[in-house]
Amino acid sequence: METVAKKHFDTVVVGSGISGMTMALLLAQVGQKVLLLEQDHKIGGSMQRFKRQGVPFDTGFHFTAGFGDILTQMLQVMDIEAAIEPIYFSPPGGARIFFKDRQEMLCFPRKRNQLAAMLAERYPEESKLIKQFFKDEEYIFKNTPTMNLKNFEALLCEGAVLNLGVLDEDFITLEDYFNKLGMSAEVRTVLSMFAMCHGTPPSEISFSNHCRVSYGLHNGIAQVKNGGDAFIQAFSAKASEFNIEIRCNCTISECLAIKKRTSNSLKLSDGTEISCNEAVLAIHPREIVKILPESVTNKIFRERVTEFEDTFGFFSLHAVTTEPIEDFPITLTAYFSVPDIDRIMSENCPDSGMAIMTTVEATANGKVQVVNAFDAMWMHDCEQWKNIKNRRQNIEYQAYKKAYADKIITNIETVYPQLSGKLKVLETATILTFNDYLHSGGAAYGVKQLVGQFNLFGKLPLRNFYAVGQSSLLPGAIGAMLSSFIIFNKIVGNEKFKTLIKRIT
Ligand SMILES: Cc1cc2nc3c(=O)[nH]c(=O)nc-3n(C[C@H](O)[C@H](O)[C@H](O)COP(=O)(O)OP(=O)(O)OC[C@H]3O[C@@H](n4cnc5c(N)ncnc54)[C@H](O)[C@@H]3O)c2cc1C
Repeated sequence: METVAKKHFDTVVVGSGISGMTMALLLAQVGQKVLLLEQDHKIGGSMQRFKRQGVPFDTGFHFTAGFGDILTQMLQVMDIEAAIEPIYFSPPGGARIFFKDRQEMLCFPRKRNQLAAMLAERYPEESKLIKQFFKDEEYIFKNTPTMNLKNFEALLCEGAVLNLGVLDEDFITLEDYFNKLGMSAEVRTVLSMFAMCHGTPPSEISFSNHCRVSYGLHNGIAQVKNGGDAFIQAFSAKASEFNIEIRCNCTISECLAIKKRTSNSLKLSDGTEISCNEAVLAIHPREIVKILPESVTNKIFRERVTEFEDTFGFFSLHAVTTEPIEDFPITLTAYFSVPDIDRIMSENCPDSGMAIMTTVEATANGKVQVVNAFDAMWMHDCEQWKNIKNRRQNIEYQAYKKAYADKIITNIETVYPQLSGKLKVLETATILTFNDYLHSGGAAYGVKQLVGQFNLFGKLPLRNFYAVGQSSLLPGAIGAMLSSFIIFNKIVGNEKFKTLIKRIT
């Protein structure tokens, strides 16, 4: 019988979200032959956009920090900077917070020094504490080497492995920090509003990891023209240029010929077998455990991963205005029903913490004003419909979604009365929808980043397999990309890494 030669790849990357795309492109750019596997029918993961009635909506990428900073540096290294264009928010240019209990809006300026000054003036009794927070936040960001790729050269010369680094602030929670300063609940809520962007409440996240996310968001937040699709299109063009092979509807179904805790031979779900030197798993930790053979994972490892707690997910609502609204802002507004973020982010809390993104999008028929809103929810909110196949036909589930959407519309109209009666909802999704498409348990930010937690990151029990992605280092597009940069360095070594890092201007 004729034997078919196995196709060989240097690295197989599993999962084509932003972390998988980043990893595949970095490896291909230093000459590796790369295979990218995606279980869905198309690539992009949470970066994907979808259209309803011709209007594009974002799934899991609405805004970002890092332009002119760490994001720009990563885009330069990947050689896709020109394709990723920021759109800055309406003046004053930063995010906004709406406190429902007193019907009051706080509008942030775009830059953090202006924000610090504005908040110190607004809360004079806590002005010293506010200034201290901004000083400490900056200290943490600046003393985390990975947050500035220009540091990499110095780090590499010392032969160090790139990592977040460990600071004293990694061992205390954000809440402990606030307690030490003696801050009021309202000021804590204002200073930690971006906890909604990593999904771990102040009582559980380390002060430093919170600051690694919040520093950039306090210092310049923007949308991207064409949202996550801009990244997917830029990656797809590069994937053709560097011959990255992409297989959708495909994953690793078995790791074969395991020797010395290494597998260089993989059976894929499309029925083929391939050989490879390395595999990088850019997927949720629970999906990683499913791929690793039981013979290499012990009980303690499996239990550790099972015990990881997911962050909340979102109920998302996607709407357009039925007529042009003159004073339509382009911005991100956090809606807090009470000025207490820990309460809002805790499970079973009846209070609402919601993000409202108001944007303008281009369609074939001209520009439309778009409203996307996200309300934190947990899997148990929807547990009863989890295993139902055709949820679109389920009357109870659809009624639940309709009631939820009505509540969100009321909240949006409270924040922006000019939109009252002028919103048309084109789509809604629950945490179940996110789970169906992303195999993520529906969590918006993967697993919670608990103080002292040993994340699944880097080398796995199969020694030529690595974990990256939003659950491994820091959540959000930037955290997911950074995790791939670090493991890329580990796989290819400093010399090859330097050839790409040189691109940073
Ligand atoms: C509603 C929502 C809004 C958000 N808004 C923002 C935002 O505005 N800005 C921001 O920075 N971040 C935002 N985030 C978070 C951000 O989307 C994520 O942190 C980031 O995109 C995660 O990237 P990733 O590559 O780790 O994972 P994912 O994007 O989840 O990609 C994982 C991919 O792997 C695939 N996969 C899973 N299992 C397997 C398997 N076994 N085999 C093969 N493929 C598999 C999935 O289908 C998916 O394509 C948001 C998230 C949500 C849910």
